[in-house]
Amino acid sequence: MTDTEFLKDKNVIVTGSTSGIGLGIAKMFAKEGANVIINGLADQFFIANLCNDIVDKSVGNKVIYHSADMSKESEIIELVKFAHDNLGAIDILVNNAGVQYVAPIEEFPSEQWEKIIAINLSSTFHLVRNFLAGMKIKNWGRIINIASTHGLVASANKSAYVAAKHGLVGLSKVIALEVAAHNITCNAICPGWVRTDLVEKQIASIAQEKNISINEATNVLLCEKQPSGRFIEVDDIAQFVLFLCSKTADNITGAALTVDGAWTAV
Ligand code: NAD
Repeated sequence: MTDTEFLKDKNVIVTGSTSGIGLGIAKMFAKEGANVIINGLADQFFIANLCNDIVDKSVGNKVIYHSADMSKESEIIELVKFAHDNLGAIDILVNNAGVQYVAPIEEFPSEQWEKIIAINLSSTFHLVRNFLAGMKIKNWGRIINIASTHGLVASANKSAYVAAKHGLVGLSKVIALEVAAHNITCNAICPGWVRTDLVEKQIASIAQEKNISINEATNVLLCEKQPSGRFIEVDDIAQFVLFLCSKTADNITGAALTVDGAWTAV
């Protein structure tokens, strides 16, 4: 069992935390009493309710939102300023925002390539370089990059996603090397299939393409890659992030850590 008391004075950013894996991670941190900045695409009503719902009212921690578009460096810099003005130095940065587009490389629109590389890879570069100084002053920090099995192995028709996630695994290693002496760790988590909006869209296109039901398409998707035949739960990833923040994980750094039902064991 991880001792989570230390999270109560920590400042956390989770990018892309308005749904799916990021939302699960943000909820976990808020429940543990950390101050959390939520980010991602969603309407104002949803955001207001979300921040109010997930804050731990008994602790008095802050759960606030910034709308920075992770494809735009200028908006990422605004998020950095917002974080400093509202929380001070950031202790834990979870780079989770990510999008997908599926098409053979000859038909892959170049604007989709640019968008995926910007959101899934470059946003991490921009955020990390701006938050490291604060972590170094505290001599403590955690950078957790939500990569993918596609950071380790490829699938056809996902050129931009696979390139970005392989890049993110490499970037995580470089950061880990550069900050190892400052008690800052940087790791990439590489999940297999987690049933979120990002995957629902892929299930829907398999159903349409093969003219089969959503249930049948779900089985096709799972059986093709994930030997466990089961989805990974959002909370499993959130609890893994929590572990990586703990004292026990002080020396786990520069790693690409799979949570993938044996997808990459072949
Ligand atoms: P999701 O679609 O539920 O969540 C994506 C999040 O990113 C949302 O909050 C969305 O608003 C946000 N986002 C999208 N574009 C953005 C932008 N321009 N700026 C800021 N935020 C933006 O998907 P998910 O499955 O929860 O994906 C989260 C991460 O996990 C992604 O990096 C994805 O590649 C990775 N991942 C997912 C799976 C899976 O099976 N679901 C597997 C491996 C890795």
